[in-house]
Formats: sequence, structure tokens, C-alpha cells
Amino acid sequence: MCGIVGIFGKSSVAENLVYALTAVQHRGQDAAGVVTFDRKFNLHKGRGLVAEVFRDPRDIEGLHGKLGLGHTRYATQGSTELLDAQPFFMAYPFGLAMVHNGNVTNFEALRAELQSDRQRVIETTNDLELLLYILAQELESVGYKDLSPAGIFASVRALRQKVDGAYSTITILAQKGMLAFRDFHGIRPLLYGRRVTPEGVEHAFASESTVFDYLGFERVRDLLPGETVFVDMNGEVHFDVDSQKTAAFCSFEHIYFAREDSVFDGHLVAGERVRMGRLLGKAVRDAGLFPDVVIDVPSSAYFAASAMAEELGVPYRRGLTKNNHVGRSFIVPSQIDRERLVRQKLNPIGDVLAGKKVAIVDDSIVRGTTSKHIVKSVRESGATEVYMVSAAPPLRHPCVYGIDIARRAELIAATHDLEYVKRAIGADAVVYPDVAEFRALFAGRPHCFACFDGNYPTAISEEERNSIEREKVASRRDSPAKH
Ligand code: SF4
Repeated sequence: MCGIVGIFGKSSVAENLVYALTAVQHRGQDAAGVVTFDRKFNLHKGRGLVAEVFRDPRDIEGLHGKLGLGHTRYATQGSTELLDAQPFFMAYPFGLAMVHNGNVTNFEALRAELQSDRQRVIETTNDLELLLYILAQELESVGYKDLSPAGIFASVRALRQKVDGAYSTITILAQKGMLAFRDFHGIRPLLYGRRVTPEGVEHAFASESTVFDYLGFERVRDLLPGETVFVDMNGEVHFDVDSQKTAAFCSFEHIYFAREDSVFDGHLVAGERVRMGRLLGKAVRDAGLFPDVVIDVPSSAYFAASAMAEELGVPYRRGLTKNNHVGRSFIVPSQIDRERLVRQKLNPIGDVLAGKKVAIVDDSIVRGTTSKHIVKSVRESGATEVYMVSAAPPLRHPCVYGIDIARRAELIAATHDLEYVKRAIGADAVVYPDVAEFRALFAGRPHCFACFDGNYPTAISEEERNSIEREKVASRRDSPAKH
């Protein structure tokens, strides 16, 4: 999972790109980078948060140009090494720079094909490098020198026929313009925005609409599944839709991943979470539970928890205080166990919890380990009963499209029933929304629900699935994952 931004501006874009990346920092904290283009590509990238990679004014000094791309990386494919950090660019036989969000599922087959046919050396384990080379190959075959929008669209259509999985990408074509496209199903987000300045119209593409809020751009719309948008050097915008497949936007973006102030296809994420919360209220009632207070696991579950409380007619309170100053890079002394780590991040507020039946709402239950520690600390704070409520239905299948949901063997709901989950996390009750009712929240708007029901929108072989699971293990960071 990653955050991507592209700006086609009327003046230097480097500062705006760095600023915009902070709006998608939550999408990736392993690395960050910016590439700009004037007569050549100028790149600065590094490991860590945006503020760590761009800590000194000199970091953007050399980033000249009115066209640029930015990226925040969360490694689910490829290593966490700098070599795998985005953006990537190539200067020969013509200039291309690219950023990408998603996961190519036929990575191994494509890599083998590219290496044998073209004698290309694929230097990284990152699927972006493959996308870059395949696009270059297709552009070469239509003729880069006299490239027209029709030639570009034909190249991207040819790429889509070869590349399976999820990919939302933004590309700079040197001396030609800026290109953005989504896979057939539009699994990962990508939006288009613009701004009118005295110098003319500026264009931008981004993973989330909050980037446009930060930059003062107007959110025009989401790119359609299978859509390509090309802005030529005159600033003229060309569109092409290759819509052969059903849309399958990731439903987990609404539950957990996206910012609550982001808008996808005209729907505010916070509003989606409120509707999930109302559904949870019904599920809690159906389970015969009567909590005295509803709390959330900060901060993605806030809207679901407060809406659930409203639905049940009981108070919502903040019962866990989050320490926002413990980052991913925090060095954990080896003698500190996981329970203390959870408490360091989420400290219970005893007065809210003591003597009460407490319903805790979290966005999801993955392995159950974090839930177990939260339930224990809430109980130790004096709660008489503790109910764990998940905004997401039971997670039974791993994500192969770039969200780091654990391997199937580690998903507690994949291999165990509700009773087991309840005992494993030490709760008096565990409540999930019904999958069918959850799906109905998105009626008329096709989404991917594969991690709940196993229906992957793209064809994927057992071998590809195993290869993706191996990559997840290889790229797993040292600090414990969220769940
Ligand atoms: S499998 Fe789950 S997390 Fe992955 S894209 Fe589909 S809904 Fe999103």
C-alpha cells in the first residue's frame, strides 16, 4: 500500500509535492521520494517519513521542473531497502518516471518473460520496475518519437492485457506530458484534480482527495476502472476508457486505510464509517448485548464507534488514549513485551471504564493479538464486561492487491469460529457485521470484498498467491504490525 501524487504545474512543483505527500503519509511510512523533470529527471528519495526524507531545504534544491511525482511507500512487495523506494525513472531509450500503488499478481511470470526476451536486468523486487519496463516496451513499439495520445492509449491497453492485479500509476513521459492510469477493476484509488492560476491550468493526480484539499486544487473526479488520462505538454487533457471488466474498488479503504476526510466517487469516507457503525449497532442488539458505554480503538474506528453508540442510545466516550508520538522507527528494547508496547500506544482511561459493560469498536480483528491486549487492559481498568466489535466482517483471506493483511494461516477468523476468537482475545463477546449486510452498504457500487469472501476480482493462481505470501514475509518490518 502506498500514496502517490503527480503535479503538472505552471511553476516549480517540488515544494508542493513534498507538502502533498504529507496528506498521504498514512498510506506508507517506510520510504518517501520525489522526482521532477525539467531537461532531465531529478530525484530525491530515502527511507522513513516524509519529514525525515525532506528534513533540509537542500533536499529539494535540485528538484527543478514543472512536472513531478511523489510517493510514500508501505512495503508489501519487494524489500524495504532504498533500492525499492519509489519513484523510479529510466533515461534510455527515452525518459520515463513512474510511481505506483497496488500489487502486480503475475510478477514472477512477467519478470521471467522480460528477463529472457529483452535481456533486461530487473534490479529490484518491486513490481513498479516491471510496469515501467513494460510500458517502455509498448511505447517503443508504437514509436516514441512521434507519440500521439492514441499511441499512448494503445500502449497502456496493451500493458493491461499483460499485467494482472491492482495498479494505479502516474508517469512522466519526458517532453510528452503526464500519464495516469488504473487497472481494469480500479482496485486501488486514483483521482484527478485541477487548479486555475493566472499562468494557466495546473493538473494533479493523487491517491486521495485530501491531497487536493492541501494544495487548493479542485477535485474533479476519480479515474474510472480501466481509464487512462494523458495531459500533453500544451496542457490539453485526453481520456481513454478500456472498460472490459467490473469495477472492484477495495472496500478496506473505507474501513481502515483511507483518511476519514477523503472522498471516493463522491462518497466521504467518514460517512461510510458512520453507516458501518449503524450496522454494528444492529449487530450488537441482535447479539443480545447491552453495553453501558462504547469506546473506539483510535483513530480509524471513531466514526463507526460513535455512530454505533447513537444507534444503541448509549454514550460514546474516548476510553483509550493514543500516543501519537511513538513512530514505526521507535527502537524497542528487547525486554519490552508486546503487551507493554500496546499499552505504550493505547492507554486506558479508568474513569470511563470502571464498573461498566464496555463495547470496544476496532476497524478489524486480524491476528487477534492486539485485541487481546486491549481487552485485558480495559478489564484491568475495572470494566465488568468487555465486548469486542469489529467494523470489518471476519477476515478469512489474505489481500493480494497491496494491503498488508496477514497470511491466511495468521488470520484468526480464517481458521477458527467465533467462540474460539472470543476465548482467544479474552472478551465476553465478539461481534462482527454480517458479510451480506456489509456488502449491501455498497449496493450499486461494485467493490472488492475478497478478504472476506475469497472472491478475488482478478484471476490468480495458487502459485501466485504463495509467491505473494512469501514476499509479505520477506518485507515484514521489524516492529509489530498493527494487529
Ligand atoms: S482483498 Fe480486501 S484489502 Fe485487498 S483489495 Fe480486496 S477488499 Fe481490499
